[in-house]
Amino acid sequence: MIKFYYHERYNEYDLGENHPLIGDKPRRTLNFLKKRKIDRYLEIKEPKPCEEKDLLRVHTREYIEKVRFLSRIGGYLSIDTPAPRGIFEIASLACGGSKEGGESLLKDSKISINPLGGFHHASRDASSGFCFFNDIAVTIEYLRNRYRVKKFAVIDLDVHHANGTQYIYYKDPDVLLISFHQDGRTLYPGSGFIEEIGENEGKGYTINLPFLPGSGNESYKRAFDEIVPDIVLQFKPDIIIYQSGVDTHHSDPLADILLTYPIYFYFAREIKKLSEKTCNKLLVLFGGGYNSDASVKSYYNIVCGLLGVEEIVREEDIPDTKLEITIERIKELKRILSDYWSI
Ligand SMILES: [Zn+2]
Repeated sequence: MIKFYYHERYNEYDLGENHPLIGDKPRRTLNFLKKRKIDRYLEIKEPKPCEEKDLLRVHTREYIEKVRFLSRIGGYLSIDTPAPRGIFEIASLACGGSKEGGESLLKDSKISINPLGGFHHASRDASSGFCFFNDIAVTIEYLRNRYRVKKFAVIDLDVHHANGTQYIYYKDPDVLLISFHQDGRTLYPGSGFIEEIGENEGKGYTINLPFLPGSGNESYKRAFDEIVPDIVLQFKPDIIIYQSGVDTHHSDPLADILLTYPIYFYFAREIKKLSEKTCNKLLVLFGGGYNSDASVKSYYNIVCGLLGVEEIVREEDIPDTKLEITIERIKELKRILSDYWSI
């Protein structure tokens, strides 16, 4: 059984009519899973909001107060991130889902999912990119504090660079962050280049691979296979957190990567294998996805990959014209990383 953290109020994480983030994605995803009878493998749990002290381990008090204030009156956190009334409670609930999902791995679960998780653009004292609180860091800090969990591997395959998570853990050798994303010269938030590898003690524990617009399944599969398993196995995490954003799908309106449905099954299955080989603790946070129909099907394939259910949604491959460039970038990344890892 997989624990699936879901609250009806998740669907209120909605940033307005003309905003690309569509609020009812968690409900639609769960309905799709139910329609395909996958919910028989899921234990659905209702999370509580995280507490203020959970937020304070990650964010400054001033920043938390700012979100709370905006949430009371409505406003804008940043140019792309409206703060509708009540968003503080919903963002805290999203953090609660990730926190409880992470906690369950230390008790009675091997895989937990939070469909409203993976807000990787939120930094300590600022945010944008539709994020308010960094639930990944809230979860990591909670598990460190409460259970003395030491080593976390964060595998972030969302199309956007995991800049918030990166900045929070840039000097921390106990949090390995691997972020695959569309090249920052062509997409928000504009960071995540190969040379960004961490600082001080944390050098080698931040790994970024940017992909050019037009990169497809072959590029991603090759990069994943050549980078992720080797490094995660050497790192020996106590918990793996998988930010499984599906805004890499070719139909996503915000980005220009050309992945198709079956690759999400592949990633999920491979990451589950890595979890089984290391810690047997995998927290999956669904992350971004702005074509609602495509996102629901992609998330479904991720759940199938975690379960080993082969009845996935399929579609035709799209030719990958950027493979040569990706191969060069993988080589360059491996050259840089070889100072820190045997790769
Ligand atoms: Zn994204």
